[in-house]
Parts: sequence; structure tokens; C-alpha cells
Amino acid sequence: MTDAYLNFANSTWGSKLAQGLGLPKPWVLERHEPGQAVIQGSILVGGTADSALLHSLANIFQAIGAQTLAHRELPQWIALANQAGMMSGRWGQEDQPGEKVKALVFDATGLTDSTQSSALYQFFHDAARSVLPCGRVVVLGRAPEHCSSARQATVQRALEGLTRSLAKELKKAITAQLIYVAPQAEFALESTLRFVLSPRSAYVSGQVIRIGLPVTETLITMDWSQPLAGQKVVVTGASRGIGAAIAQVMASEGAQVICLDVPQAQEALQAVASQVGGRALALDIAAPHAAQTLVEAAQADGGWDVIVHNAGITRDKTIANMKPHFWTSVVDINLSAQERINDALVDSGALRSGGRVVCVSSISGIAGNVGQTNYALSKAGVVGMVNSLSPVWAERGITINAVAPGFIETAMTAAVPFALREAGRRMNSLSQGGLPEDVAQAIAWFASPASMGLTGNVVRVCGQSILGA
Ligand code: NAP
Repeated sequence: MTDAYLNFANSTWGSKLAQGLGLPKPWVLERHEPGQAVIQGSILVGGTADSALLHSLANIFQAIGAQTLAHRELPQWIALANQAGMMSGRWGQEDQPGEKVKALVFDATGLTDSTQSSALYQFFHDAARSVLPCGRVVVLGRAPEHCSSARQATVQRALEGLTRSLAKELKKAITAQLIYVAPQAEFALESTLRFVLSPRSAYVSGQVIRIGLPVTETLITMDWSQPLAGQKVVVTGASRGIGAAIAQVMASEGAQVICLDVPQAQEALQAVASQVGGRALALDIAAPHAAQTLVEAAQADGGWDVIVHNAGITRDKTIANMKPHFWTSVVDINLSAQERINDALVDSGALRSGGRVVCVSSISGIAGNVGQTNYALSKAGVVGMVNSLSPVWAERGITINAVAPGFIETAMTAAVPFALREAGRRMNSLSQGGLPEDVAQAIAWFASPASMGLTGNVVRVCGQSILGA
């Protein structure tokens, strides 16, 4: 559904009126176009003498064809960039900012004490006004659990506050993320940098992403234009909304998509499957035989690589007014059925080693919501499932992550009463709702074979909604 205010606020006179009245101006977000470069514009790089990721960053920026510039406190970047095969210059004069850039990337892994945080101040103070609209800010750090001293863990944890504030402060649809990279896990960083620097992450902001050391330390050679080539991917709830967008994005990345939905949605499901060159599988995931049916279907295909648990329902009522079947149906479809399917697919080996499970939670599961005790329980349970299964499956290289969408423009949110809908749309740092494609892009990033270092993450696709933040 269209956001009339967004169109109005971006028209010539609407923009002036909105500004005069002090109303928020939602920017038209840049979104991924096929064949587009990862980033259009330069990256300004900052860090400290002990930054540990600069070599890896130089290689990745070279691989994505980025132009880079060095902040005055990081002159050594120029030599590193040259070694990686890139030309790089210094940004700005002593007190003068340099050219506008598309991204700011600061390697904060070298910070071991809060007294060193002024390096962050210098960099972001100098460059905050120089980021182009729809630009990107990325801070890289070490997760506190990987730090060797309390002081180091403290300053690394402090990066969360900085990043979330930048995401709120910079406006103009600029997003900011913090990526914690485990020691020696930098070889698994590229898929995440490609995602967060590109328009694929248009509606993701203020997030903390953890890259761990995968059990299998193999460097994957990727065709980045088709990262899911040859992968067999099953998407539940694929007949419409977010599920249909997931099927489309997965297919555009080269996957063979098995589109699953309830038998009643057969016609719409078949249409989506045909559109993406995939196949339809009509099945109620909560049916008693569903897990076994999926194992047999996967085995007949020679195994599946990815399952996306997108199917979900709402049955809203305050708990005092809620009938028991509203509770049981929501918990069963949104959580228990997914647990049964995961166990069956992984235990039987029908989901291959190195496979990916991507779940769809919700900010309701993080913040809670009136009338949604059943839904919020199920979606918080999805977070619990991700947290508890990620270490168990790590040995087999199977990852499990979740996205938690905020307000996404779908048939579900179009049915919300006007005032609530407007509040849902505007109460985030980007002042607008997301599109199904935004959720699908985040899921495709988790699903990529190159995302082997990502497991146990829950990333909100909510434009940094204030709910549950
Ligand atoms: P949707 O338009 O209602 O699509 C969900 C699909 O899943 C429907 O086709 C539905 O079929 C199907 N489904 C329901 N129960 C099923 C079952 N037992 N077996 C197989 N398929 C089943 O929802 P959406 O808005 O695209 O949302 C997709 C996911 O994102 C859900 O998990 C939702 O909770 C989550 N989410 C959405 C938003 C948002 O703003 N839209 C925000 C946060 C989270 P029916 O026709 O039977 O319903």
C-alpha cells in the first residue's frame, strides 16, 4: 500500500509545508536495483593505531569496487588501500571537511579503555555533516564476551550507545550499524559489509550484528551476483506479503525456491511459484504430519539448504477476552510447528550440513503489544529458539538467525485503523514503514553461504522503531 504522506512530503510544495509546520520528512529510501554496485560514492575510513580489521576492510572494499578516503587520524589507511590495489587519498584539510561521502566506516576494535573513546568523537564530529542522503555508518568492534579485560569489554559495549544515537541523529535516511567481529572471524565479514553498506539494508538501522568464528573456517568463493545459485530454499507463507517478496528475492539471487503455504492459498501460491520459476508445496505447517512431509519432500530433492520460517498469524484480543483457540493456534503456527520442523529437518539430515534456518520474529515479540499476548509470546519464543539452537547446531555449520520486522506495508498493516497505522509508520528514525522487500533482503543476507559467521543474531528490520528499543 502507498504511503501518501511520504509522497506529499517529497513534492515541491509539500516539502516546504512539512518543513514550515515542523513535520518529519521521510526520505525516499534508495533500494537495491539488479546489477547495481554495492555502494555508490566514497567510504571515509577511520580507526586507531591498534585497529585489527583494516587489512580485511581494504581487501573487501577493493572487492566491492569502492573508493575510499582516509581520515586525518588514520593516515596509514592510504598505504593499506594501495597494497590492496586501491587508490586512496586523505579526506579534508586540517580543520576543513573533505568531499561528501556515502559511508563512514570506523574500526573500533583497537579500543581497550573508555579514555580512548575520543577517537570516535574526532572522527564522527569531523564527518557527521558530510554523509550523503541514504548514506551508511558502520562501526566495527569486538563483542564484550571476546574481550580480555573489563576495561576493554566496557568500551566495546559502549559502542552500542554511540551507534544507536548516530542512527537517530544523522537523519536523511542515513542508517548506522555496529558489527562485532570475533577474533579471527574477519574472513566471514564480507557478506555482512556488502549488506549493511548497500541499499539492500535500506530499512535496517541501529542494529548490533555479531559475526562469530564458524566451525568450518573455509573461505567461500562466491559469485556475488548470484549468492544463492544452486541452493534449494523453502519459504513458508509464500503466497503473499513478505513471503512472496522473500521468494522473489531468493530466486533473483539464484535459488531454486519451494514456495509453501496453506492448501486454501493454492492459486496465489502457484502464481508466486510460477513467477519465481520455483515450485508450490501446499501444506499446513501445523498439521500433525507436516514435519514428516517436509523431511520426505527435502529427501526427494536430495536435501535442502535453507528454510525460511515466514508463515505466521495474528489473532488479537486482550488476554481476558481471548478464546483458548486464539492462543493455541497462534503459538502452534508461529512457534511450536517451527520447532517440530527444525528438529525433523536437522535430525534427519534433510537440511544439509552448512544449512541456514531464517526465522521471522516481530518487534511485538521484543516490545510487547496490547492485545497481542499470544503473538508476542510466539515471536519472543522465536528469539529464544534462535538463541538456544544456534550453539547446538554450530558443530554442523547450520546457522539460525531471525529478522524482527517493524511496520511493514502489507495487507496485514493496511487493515490497521488509520491513526494506529500512521503512528506505526512514523515512530521510527526513518519516519516511514518498510516494504516486504526490505525484510526479504535481510533474510537473503542471512541465507547466503557466505554468511557462515552469522548465527544467533536477531536483526530488526524496523527503521529503528522506538518500540522496544
Ligand atoms: P500474511 O500476509 O498474513 O502472510 C502469511 C502467510 O502465511 C499467509 O499466506 C498465511 O495463510 C500463511 N500461513 C498462515 N498459517 C499457515 C500455516 N499453518 N501453514 C502454512 N502457511 C500458513 O503475513 P505478512 O504480513 O506477510 O507477515 C509474514 C511474517 O512476518 C509473519 O510471520 C508475521 O508475523 C511477520 N511480521 C509481519 C509484520 C508486518 O508488518 N506485516 C511485522 C512483523 C512481523 P492464510 O491465508 O491462512 O493466513
